[in-house]
Amino acid sequence: MQFPYFSKNGEILPIAQANIPLASIEYSYGFGVYETLKVRNGIIYFVAQHVQRLFTSAQIIGLSHHFTKALVTEYILALVKQLESSHASYNIKMLLIGGSEPQLCIMALAPYFPDRKLYSEGVKTISVHYERLFPKAKTLNMLASYLAYKQAKELGCYEALLINRSGNILEGTRSNFFAIKGNVLLTSPAEDVLEGVTRQTVISVAQKFGFIIHETAISLVQVAEYDGAFLTSTSSKIVPIKQIDDYVLQVPEKLRELMKAYDAFLKESNGIFSA
Ligand code: PLP
Repeated sequence: MQFPYFSKNGEILPIAQANIPLASIEYSYGFGVYETLKVRNGIIYFVAQHVQRLFTSAQIIGLSHHFTKALVTEYILALVKQLESSHASYNIKMLLIGGSEPQLCIMALAPYFPDRKLYSEGVKTISVHYERLFPKAKTLNMLASYLAYKQAKELGCYEALLINRSGNILEGTRSNFFAIKGNVLLTSPAEDVLEGVTRQTVISVAQKFGFIIHETAISLVQVAEYDGAFLTSTSSKIVPIKQIDDYVLQVPEKLRELMKAYDAFLKESNGIFSA
């Protein structure tokens, strides 16, 4: 999938003009934050939440810039408008790099749609010991996450779960983690992980669906005690887990129902979510 344009500080430019200034220490050291949001059938999902998180991430690492939330939203809408005649479904990546002249690039990327079989049967995962430096921020400090994900792929797994020094499952390298026991959903406290936009919206749907949410530490060694577990992310929505290392998990009926309820919510939401 080729996208002819991108946005640089609000200016729509041909993609051929997208380049990385090699002399910039902020680019080469990765002093930046990013966001990925999705456009499906022309609908941009949860723009307000993604723009807010971009700003929160920048603030957490002390990246100052002159952009406003209204401006960034305008830039996204302008790029989507520019692409609408040729593309309806794709992901959007926003990259905000700090320094004396902060740069905000917004680009379209081919979406990733997991195989249907993964939704019905669940995915295999591995556990990796790693705590992200600024768990609540989506920063470019991605080396350890990249290596963990690469290791997962090499072992035929879908994702690596990050385990903290207390032996608790925090989140995936690019997803949030939930366990299910009866009508209770357990997930790591928001202060320990990236507050995924999918996490937020899944929690809201699950509560309406009758689940009780416990934000709590989830021990890796107790994982076999749960009825099931799943991952959430913008691109993949809810993906059941069938294995964590050697622990085998079932995909409970209640999880399949929640997945359906979440799909229905996405359809009805028109891309807008208010908590
Ligand atoms: N946790 C981490 C570390 C992530 O990088 C991501 C997304 O990339 C998520 C969770 C899921 O966030 P979202 O639901 O907003 O895509």
